[in-house]
Amino acid sequence: MSKKNIGAHRYVGCMSKTNSNIELPKDARKIVEEYKKLVEKYLNFKSPVDETGAVRAASKRFLIIHTDAFPKTGKELEATLYLNGYNLGRRAAKRLIARFNDMGLPKIEALKLLLAACTCAGFGIFTLGKIEGEEVTIRVYNSAEYDSYMRVYKKHPGRPVCKMIAGILAGAWSEYVGKPCRALEVKCLGKGDKYCEFIVEPII
Ligand SMILES: [Zn+2]
Repeated sequence: MSKKNIGAHRYVGCMSKTNSNIELPKDARKIVEEYKKLVEKYLNFKSPVDETGAVRAASKRFLIIHTDAFPKTGKELEATLYLNGYNLGRRAAKRLIARFNDMGLPKIEALKLLLAACTCAGFGIFTLGKIEGEEVTIRVYNSAEYDSYMRVYKKHPGRPVCKMIAGILAGAWSEYVGKPCRALEVKCLGKGDKYCEFIVEPII
């Protein structure tokens, strides 16, 4: 086993006792290193995220979240997390697409930078999958929201739980395609999958 795998296994192993199946992309270290360079170059932020897509200190996992993203109410928390995520994703994508447009860069590059920024904030490792028309598939490895759920409830949810991430992706994609979108979490650590996967598409 390579040094990288031992490291990743140790981190993931200490994260959750009920889902030891968590998978990382094969080239996780390379993906995260490239994301960190992108985020430092364009967003002027040197992220402490590790090769598993997590920010850790004192054996705990942290998220670096803009204060705008923080839920404003405790009521109906999952819907609130989704809506906060949606607005955050939409605003961030709007800014980045405009900036990349000014630099003569395609808007897909702005979307990739947004995935890099989410990874560097410690949400997990985001990877862009297939784009088919106005539908995109995005994977998130080692989701911090699942980790958070397990720490709070100490019980496997048996359902998808990554609501804020879903909101961020739906909001960002809505800005990308110019229509309101939704994100369906079709795979989730919360229901025993090895990673989370979202299909993001316009609301018909
Ligand atoms: Zn999930």
